[in-house]
Amino acid sequence: MFSSNTNLQSVVGDFRIDNMMRYSQFVPRLYNLCKSLGFEAGKIMPSRAFCSDESQGFPIILITKHFGTFPFNHGRVGGIIATDRHGPHAEHGKDLVIIQASHVGYDPDTKTFGTYRRLQTAVHESSPSCGKIGAVLNWYLDEYAFAQENIFLGKQGNEYIVTIDNQLLNEGRAEGLFLNLDRIVRRENGNIQPVRTLSTARSYLAADALVKLLPADLWTAAGDTVIGDQLVPELFRFKRDIGGDIEGQSHLEQNLLNPMPWIVTSPSPLLVAAQVNTQAEFDRAFRSIVKEKCYRDKRMVFISCLNIDISPRAGQTFPLTKCVPWAAFIQDGKGHHYTLEQAELTARLNEQSTDNPDQIDLEAAIQKMEEEQEIRILV
Ligand SMILES: [Zn+2]
Repeated sequence: MFSSNTNLQSVVGDFRIDNMMRYSQFVPRLYNLCKSLGFEAGKIMPSRAFCSDESQGFPIILITKHFGTFPFNHGRVGGIIATDRHGPHAEHGKDLVIIQASHVGYDPDTKTFGTYRRLQTAVHESSPSCGKIGAVLNWYLDEYAFAQENIFLGKQGNEYIVTIDNQLLNEGRAEGLFLNLDRIVRRENGNIQPVRTLSTARSYLAADALVKLLPADLWTAAGDTVIGDQLVPELFRFKRDIGGDIEGQSHLEQNLLNPMPWIVTSPSPLLVAAQVNTQAEFDRAFRSIVKEKCYRDKRMVFISCLNIDISPRAGQTFPLTKCVPWAAFIQDGKGHHYTLEQAELTARLNEQSTDNPDQIDLEAAIQKMEEEQEIRILV
């Protein structure tokens, strides 16, 4: 979905996370939106494509309560959609819903994204959330940290000099952070020539664009100022040997690879990565749904969201999950379909009532099953 030269800021910039709503309001609104589209109560099969994280359990319980049935499972770890499950899903209901979400933790005490307090650990430990996305990002964050500390800026007379560690200049590497040298180093007669060759690095005349881009006070006579946070996404890219398996182990990483310079330079990498993955999965899955013959004659709502898991405090059983809707695909089963972009989708959801007279009482439903006469299975 994202090409390597995508201006990601403009893409993620359209994904407004202030359009959030509590899950306990989102699910009845979604149910009522489905009803307004002609979906028939008791004949709707919801499906979720969520990460396997236990923090996603509360949204699933709310889906069960409001749709009156436990949802089908379209989800792979990280919030990837298993499109090969469309067929069985289509067979399990007259009208169909798929809710996809990537997720990110939020700590209300520190007001930061990316961690989740797990009350079931020995001392209520906080750990990265989404953990799968966090595990993918670690390698890229390490590569970025190395580059930040191993590019130096200096000035000799009127000349601006940039000194780069040899590892970052080695274009023969199979993997790593690669600099967009044309934006960093000045070409002379079409060639890049060092002005000085050091034991582990080389110095070059800086490209005019780099001189304009960076604050003037970084270019010091000592030549030992690290580029640090000024190593902005336009100046580098990543190469990583990822298997090309669709919906397999590396699918999430593939979704994040091209936008990765924007992710690692963000103040909240796990938040931006989750947004990017939600966008990529909506774009990919909607195309698979349009082509899916089993869905063709069915009413369907496919919605992608970002789930924000606000860590539970002591005494709270569940997280206070919020939903940020991103986009929806709607079809009427008679050959008409359309997509709703974020602003329109949020407005449509907000028009809906949060009352749902069809919701089930889960405790009463469980109690009823306990009281039913046992059916003996003959073996
Ligand atoms: Zn996760």
